[in-house]
Amino acid sequence: MEKINLKALHKITYGLYVVCSKSGGKANGQIANAIFQITSEPPTIAISINKKNLTHELIEKSKVFTISVLSEETPMTLIGTFGFKCGRDINKITGVNCKNGISKIPIVLEYSIAYIEAEVFNSVDVGTHTIFIGRVIDCDIIDDKKPMTYDYYHKVKGGLSPKTAPTYIANDKNKKMEEEKMDKYVCTVCGWIYDPEKGDPDGNIKPGTKFEDIPDDWVCPVCGAAKSDFEKM
Ligand code: FE
Repeated sequence: MEKINLKALHKITYGLYVVCSKSGGKANGQIANAIFQITSEPPTIAISINKKNLTHELIEKSKVFTISVLSEETPMTLIGTFGFKCGRDINKITGVNCKNGISKIPIVLEYSIAYIEAEVFNSVDVGTHTIFIGRVIDCDIIDDKKPMTYDYYHKVKGGLSPKTAPTYIANDKNKKMEEEKMDKYVCTVCGWIYDPEKGDPDGNIKPGTKFEDIPDDWVCPVCGAAKSDFEKM
């Protein structure tokens, strides 16, 4: 096969969603981006879910799932909980504002602008993933904020371009010099940025702590990756 440029696939646009399901009393949710409407009459929707995920197992058993459309304001911590932690280790639903759908599946309401509930009527095995095709049984708008796109998540929320972050103001010369001395580090797993000026108060790292001075057993507050998974920016 001729060498092909897979980067072309990165030009496809996506959103960012939480997909939830529940079976036998166990509920779980995960971040998904591969979601699309298939038909309008009747309204049907498809989602592509990795077979390794707990949510996959739950959808396979219960044949129902819910989708919450996340807003641009969704914090990295929420995306981190649903996107980088495993529902087999922690209960992701606890502590998150949810309601139960018609089929008693949780619907995440936090930072969600709309939700869709669907009943699986077909599925396609595509190797690593299964495409679940569902008939929409309920859906509604929660609020009118802007939906988060995958591109926005990478560029702004992931902070890979810190200058686009609203908190970035290079106003003071001294502050700028200080920033240059203390490097920022990015998590290669989830894109979260360690800013020495802010530290990581939840992880007991005081503001003003250099990345080099953080204890080795410290982990990324968003995805739980090790300190060694961080790269200097
Ligand atoms: Fe991380």
